[in-house]
Amino acid sequence: CGVFGVIGVADAASFVALGLHALQHRGQEAAGIITWDAERGFSSAHRFGYVRDNFTRADVIASLPGQIGIGHVRYSTSGSKGHTQIRDVQPFFGEFSMGGAAIAHNGNITNAAALRRELIERGSIFQSSSDSECIIHLMARSLQRTIPERMKDALRRVEGAFSVVAMTRTKLIGVRDPLGVRPLVLGRIGEGWALASETCALDIIGAGFVREIEPGEMVVISEGEGVQSFRPFEPARPRFCIFEHVYFSRPDSILGGRSVYETRRQIGVELAREAPVEADLVCPVPDSGTPAAIGYAHESGIPYGMGIIRNQYMGRTFIEPTEQIRNMGVRLKLNVNRALVKDKRVVLVDDSVVRGTTSRKIKEMILDAGAAEVHFRIASPPTAWPCFYGVDTPEREKLLAASMSEEEMCRYLGVDSLRFISLDGLYRAVGEAEGRNNACPQYCDACFSGDYPVAPSDMIEKGFRL
Ligand code: 5GP
Ligand code: SF4
Ligand code: MG
Repeated sequence: CGVFGVIGVADAASFVALGLHALQHRGQEAAGIITWDAERGFSSAHRFGYVRDNFTRADVIASLPGQIGIGHVRYSTSGSKGHTQIRDVQPFFGEFSMGGAAIAHNGNITNAAALRRELIERGSIFQSSSDSECIIHLMARSLQRTIPERMKDALRRVEGAFSVVAMTRTKLIGVRDPLGVRPLVLGRIGEGWALASETCALDIIGAGFVREIEPGEMVVISEGEGVQSFRPFEPARPRFCIFEHVYFSRPDSILGGRSVYETRRQIGVELAREAPVEADLVCPVPDSGTPAAIGYAHESGIPYGMGIIRNQYMGRTFIEPTEQIRNMGVRLKLNVNRALVKDKRVVLVDDSVVRGTTSRKIKEMILDAGAAEVHFRIASPPTAWPCFYGVDTPEREKLLAASMSEEEMCRYLGVDSLRFISLDGLYRAVGEAEGRNNACPQYCDACFSGDYPVAPSDMIEKGFRL
């Protein structure tokens, strides 16, 4: 998901809408905005579909007055996957004795089922199936006298990954979990402030990048007092999601001081060194494989070309809810550039192999178009474990790499060769010259390594085995 918030600007809702539009790649299922205005109080709108189709209309923006607002773009990783109800769409709102508060959450709470059970037993009335709603109910039960203090109380009970943007009538609040699994950045716009999942959302509103919210940090921002910083949690070693660098974030964002585009290009360079091949053409699987393909071509000296063309009007395949639509999705979204690939030995570069559906279809399409050979080069290590921290990987049984070796996957996909970047190669590409520090890894890489930095306790209870 993507989160965004702004304080101290006229017409906050239009800024939030723009910020969410820039974060649309983080969730395309639904979006919501809440604002506060002295005359009208809290206003909210929650809609299915793209931001641009719902929040660019003057009447919708006019229904969200105020100088403070937050928003959320949703991609379901918990709750009612694939059959989202509008009440699952964030931001969530709660009325407390000291006033109202709204919250938007990116990540996934790994003890949400246990918390929900406990809260329901004690009288909480849940509205949604979302893990994030726990935060509101935990806040309601807190005895603290201010909303930021109640949020601290609530979030200390929550396990897993969270980047939260929240607001009260007078404050904008941002929090990252102690490991800082999901991103969150602070920006300055005129006399106001903005919080966003990624820097690309600051760029779109012309806000300057100030800094990242640090892992385990809470910032409370008000027009009078500016940015106040708190440390509500036990200190921990950060474990930022390495997959944000590989795929999830936009290439024009800056993560941890590094250009995402440059990191991805560097992954391609590493891949070319680790897994060279004799070929005539390097093609990306667009768009997610493009920077890595550029790096691979540059390092190998093999010409780069657009052998696959993407229809710009489709969403990301993996967000489609059913297997059947996913299967069709590849063909709806991607087509082979026949004239270019005919009779060539082609290196195809993609960011990841999850179920293998995409790769299989693409291989077929490219061979049908007359390519002589197809070599897959993948910009991440084999995805062998599900993510429980806010990225929607399927259950373990559906992950190709969970049950097959590299050679078996190569045979299953029917390609001439298949190679993945090593975990150390990936760490080098994100700037860790020595590779992965196995004693205390610098990133979360659980989907590749099975090393989960936070025990996924709900899943373990359901029988998931580490
Ligand atoms: P597959 O067809 O192997 O299941 O999916 C691989 C494609 O889905 C890749 O091209 C990749 O861009 C995209 N993808 C990237 N990240 C994810 C993810 O977290 N989950 C899923 N299901 N697909 C992803
Ligand atoms: Fe990111 Fe993978 Fe960790 Fe999930 S498991 S937070 S996708 S590195
Ligand atoms: Mg892709």
